[in-house]
Amino acid sequence: MTKTIFFTITFIFVSNAFPNSDTIEYSVPQLWDILDKKILLLQIDKEEGAKLLDEYEQGLVKYFMENGGRYVQRRDWAFPLANFTSVTHREEGNDYRETNYDYFQGSDSKVHPAHDIFILDSDKDLLDDETGKPVDVVTMCSGVVVATFTTWAPGSYLRGGNYVKIFDPTNYKFFYYSHLSQVNVEPGDIVDAGDKIGEVGRTGSKTHLHISLLKSVNGYPVPEPIIDDIWKSKENYLNGKK
Ligand SMILES: [Zn+2]
Repeated sequence: MTKTIFFTITFIFVSNAFPNSDTIEYSVPQLWDILDKKILLLQIDKEEGAKLLDEYEQGLVKYFMENGGRYVQRRDWAFPLANFTSVTHREEGNDYRETNYDYFQGSDSKVHPAHDIFILDSDKDLLDDETGKPVDVVTMCSGVVVATFTTWAPGSYLRGGNYVKIFDPTNYKFFYYSHLSQVNVEPGDIVDAGDKIGEVGRTGSKTHLHISLLKSVNGYPVPEPIIDDIWKSKENYLNGKK
């Protein structure tokens, strides 16, 4: 009798002290992914979110090194698409708008701190008109996959559709790839420049990739244009280099 009571009391104490969410051990990329969803849903205070993003950065670099990541310099970045016939660029690459951009506005951002690359898909079936096959989205940099979204459906609050975010430990920046029809990676994966991370999709407009690069400044992600990197990597890709 005494024994039973003691056991019950101990159990209650333990379960109160460690609620479910705290007993699971998350890796830093998984924590980043959880935070990413909170930011998108506007469920976290801006300052708190920035503090966590800042804190996770060193952990991501450590994680990358411990798991065999390979540093890739910016000049060696890969073109973000592969296995396509031809592509076109929104406004010939002049589609970047960052004025008043705020990462913590979640999915409500009205500006376009990004570049859109369209594939040949006149019948909107997500396949390249010439090859009849999907076009691969590949990572420009090497890094750690820090966030993914894979369950987008029409009507979703997420304007970016299915997406992948990858932290680049060489440059302390992170990439955002969106409107994917398929996602092939998950948070915690280590990727090398040119690795496939998904396939090009669409969310209501033309079939395209929306790609963005951000650098966290004290935890506040600031976008930067990468059209020059896109032109250079495209030239390398078309010349058969990677
Ligand atoms: Zn876009």
